[in-house]
Amino acid sequence: MSYVPFDVIIIGSGIGALVTATQLAVKGASVLVLERYIIPGGSAGYFEREGYRFDVGASMIFGFGQQGTTNLLTRALDAVNVSVETIPDQVQIHYHLPNNLDLKVDRDYQTFLENITAYFPHERLGIRHFYDECWKVFNYLNSMDLLSLEEPRYLLRTFLQHPRSCLGLARYLPVNAGDIARKYIKDPELLRFIDMECYCWSVVPASMTPMINAGMVFSDRHYGGVNYPKGGVGQIALKLVEGLEKAGGKILYRARVTKILLENRRAVGVKLASGDIYRAGTIVSNATRWDTFGKLLTHEETPINEKKWQQRYQKSPSFLSLHMGVKADILANNTECHHILLENWEKMADAEGTIFVSIPTLLDPDLAPPGYHIIHAFTPHWFSDWDKLHKTEYDARKEAVAGRIIARLNSIFPGLDTGLDYLEVGTPRTHRRFLGRTEGTYGPIPRRKLLGLLGMPFNRTAVPGLYCVGDSTFPGQGLNAVAFSGFACAHRIGVDLGL
Ligand SMILES: Cc1cc2nc3c(=O)[nH]c(=O)nc-3n(C[C@H](O)[C@H](O)[C@H](O)COP(=O)(O)OP(=O)(O)OC[C@H]3O[C@@H](n4cnc5c(N)ncnc54)[C@H](O)[C@@H]3O)c2cc1C
Repeated sequence: MSYVPFDVIIIGSGIGALVTATQLAVKGASVLVLERYIIPGGSAGYFEREGYRFDVGASMIFGFGQQGTTNLLTRALDAVNVSVETIPDQVQIHYHLPNNLDLKVDRDYQTFLENITAYFPHERLGIRHFYDECWKVFNYLNSMDLLSLEEPRYLLRTFLQHPRSCLGLARYLPVNAGDIARKYIKDPELLRFIDMECYCWSVVPASMTPMINAGMVFSDRHYGGVNYPKGGVGQIALKLVEGLEKAGGKILYRARVTKILLENRRAVGVKLASGDIYRAGTIVSNATRWDTFGKLLTHEETPINEKKWQQRYQKSPSFLSLHMGVKADILANNTECHHILLENWEKMADAEGTIFVSIPTLLDPDLAPPGYHIIHAFTPHWFSDWDKLHKTEYDARKEAVAGRIIARLNSIFPGLDTGLDYLEVGTPRTHRRFLGRTEGTYGPIPRRKLLGLLGMPFNRTAVPGLYCVGDSTFPGQGLNAVAFSGFACAHRIGVDLGL
């Protein structure tokens, strides 16, 4: 069946998509969002089991500050007159690292610097210089509206208003955080710590992590801070959908797009698994780059620049997730919400090397039954290790990995094994199935050291009428980053449509 055309069709309802959709709806475009799953949010979604509400992925949320211009989640919600109540997290991460490096990243910048300097007193100045340089990048970003770098008039206007910030940012665009860290810091253990500071959100070491992203994360955690949405991370997407519908936009669930339709090489519509066809002058894909070019468009339809991009960037591993419900009394009184555990530096980037932990009920107890907490522990794992396993082998492998992770977590949460009330294990196959992401990947990572963010594609593609949004586009992974991509995408489309 075919329907009345929309101005814009958006494939998927991750945060990048919903920011694009809401921004375009308030500009007056008729917008249709097509989501294959039953709820919105993608990697920022949730699921409920036996009285627990689990976040499927993201839980350390930036972008909820009240000042500046980098608070993009606050701004995206405001734009459609909705809001999410948030709970400030006083500590971004409690690191449990090799050689007894046990460090908390405090919301207060000076306290954080003192904590880290206590471990590396001989690097006092280097530490201060490195993190201060991150602030420089952040202050440049935080002084200007963050919109499409593909829009020349915006670039000119911004340059005239903020020449210093623009020139400063241009200087950092091709730079990686490791280059700056090595300028100031010599201690190899401290450089490994900086690697972990980057790896825990970029999934690559500092030498391959763009300085622009590092500047955002390492400064905003002390500026707008890390804030948890009351009711769980899923609230962000639910509220954006509420705002989208209030602004006249439409969203359909269980609407899996199988094909982007081209006419004379221009994107003109989409076909769903149901056979339904929807048409629009503008199509936006929130699917990963690998799903967009290669699945929704055939190899033959994929432009050459996309094939070249795939030679520069590869899929990062997926995750193995343990979603646990635990008795509250196994956690000590001063336990923090987010933890990182690694026992051996050599294994930082290996499958099952670094373990990420989030305990959101320490901030919002209503996500679990009284007397219980949620612990979400996850660690990188490759899809290839789980693909094509027979059910018995798949289940046995899940049980074995869960056992190993719980045994390691017992070192920071003694009694975890005996305090378990609920356990569900998600594998890279689960991530692929529920998030619609090829091989369950967390997103693109450089194949080798590249020039900072310069290689990341923006929202326009070489297929007329087709745009991309989300973590396969500039500036990459993370909710605030994909919100940036959403603002930029809507801005570029708005100009193209004359809105
Ligand atoms: C385990 C984990 C932990 C994370 N932790 C954090 C964190 O603490 N903080 C943080 O900021 N970020 C975190 N992230 C990263 C963050 O969640 C993502 O970068 C971000 O949510 C990606 O948003 P997106 O817009 O690219 O879309 P996605 O979240 O990828 O959503 C895409 C949507 O499109 C839908 N879709 C795909 N294909 C189709 C199709 N063909 N038809 C219809 N619909 C389709 C999918 O179902 C999905 O809903 C984490 C991610 C994971 C997996």
